[in-house]
Amino acid sequence: MSARQTYRGFCHCGRVSFELDAKLDYVMECNCSLCRKVGALWHGASDSSLRITGESELTLYQFNTMTAKHYSCRNCGVHPFSRPRLDPKRWAVNVRCIDAIDISALPLKRFDGANWEEAAKALHAQRN
Ligand SMILES: [Zn+2]
Repeated sequence: MSARQTYRGFCHCGRVSFELDAKLDYVMECNCSLCRKVGALWHGASDSSLRITGESELTLYQFNTMTAKHYSCRNCGVHPFSRPRLDPKRWAVNVRCIDAIDISALPLKRFDGANWEEAAKALHAQRN
């Protein structure tokens, strides 16, 4: 297991970057209608553990319940983070934007976002 450390991530063109303080002990794959096309692998983060540079380059995309906020770079189209519907006060950071890690070595969790209501209920039951 990796210790908590600071990771640097970038969109493809580099206009958007971030620093993430995290213990990267998992990545989460979601099969909702958006994530399955974006191909992101997510890790949760609080406001205080994510510092974003290049915010003016971001475009916002929302759909369905309009709860989640999906941000991508307006220049290269890469999708580095979202405010997830599961907890919109937090961030979901796309770990694929962090070049310096071996993603295949990280444990993969799956979130059944295609059946969001049931999956969210199950996750809450697990935590409580
Ligand atoms: Zn970019």
